[in-house]
Amino acid sequence: MKLKTAIVCALCALSVALFLASTRAAGQAVNVAKTKDQAIDDLVYGNRILSNEGILDAFGHISVRDPQDPTHFYMSRGIAPSQVTAKDILKYDMQCNAVDAPPNTGYGERFIHCGVFRARPDVNVVIHAHSLPLIPFGLTKTPLRPLFLMAGWMGTDGVPIFDIRDVAPDTNIMVTSNMFGDALAKVLGKNNIVLMRGHGETVVGTSVQEAVVHAYYAVVNAQLQADSMKLGGNITYLTPGEAANSAKSVGIGRPWDMFKARVGKIE
Ligand SMILES: [Zn+2]
Repeated sequence: MKLKTAIVCALCALSVALFLASTRAAGQAVNVAKTKDQAIDDLVYGNRILSNEGILDAFGHISVRDPQDPTHFYMSRGIAPSQVTAKDILKYDMQCNAVDAPPNTGYGERFIHCGVFRARPDVNVVIHAHSLPLIPFGLTKTPLRPLFLMAGWMGTDGVPIFDIRDVAPDTNIMVTSNMFGDALAKVLGKNNIVLMRGHGETVVGTSVQEAVVHAYYAVVNAQLQADSMKLGGNITYLTPGEAANSAKSVGIGRPWDMFKARVGKIE
């Protein structure tokens, strides 16, 4: 009987170990691009997915660091994300100058991207969007906090808010210089998302897949948090432990594949 119990316990322990191993694997960033071609292919799909899923409209953009030359990154020329193809992708240096293109080519707010890439060697992908559900959390004293399974990656200290008014008065609220890009990256710090007062958000990640999925679920979390607040009462947010463990455990490959299938083949 004791032997049988020991065998059962051993099998249980093995099952738990295998489960934890599989969930950890699922939570790792998938498909960090290793070549320029893969990075650009991911980038084009990232543009289309973010547009398709309503995270980006005519504005907003996504960039990816060159996996073979980390002092440069790729981003589309200044067109709507829904229209981006591989031939629209430009290469930029760390000062946001387009390589082999006329001066001041590209999005006016490209300085968000090089500012973050300069400050965060661990970041390979930057997304800037103007998601309406996130705007109120940049305007009020109510911190955006993770409250469901897919948002643990945001951390539980409250998402930081960049107010460009702290840098200069009466701007057009857009990040249009390296000085503003540096200031934004400083407020982002070691976080994976920063809100921008009266403007939108910037999400960063190690792969296009990770950043795109996180940008999507940041909006979902904001909608859920606003809906929960309307119901009244105390909201039960994720604990730091729950946030950290769910961030490690939730796979991003499956939502990425689903989003990509919705886009279909890009001509
Ligand atoms: Zn913007």
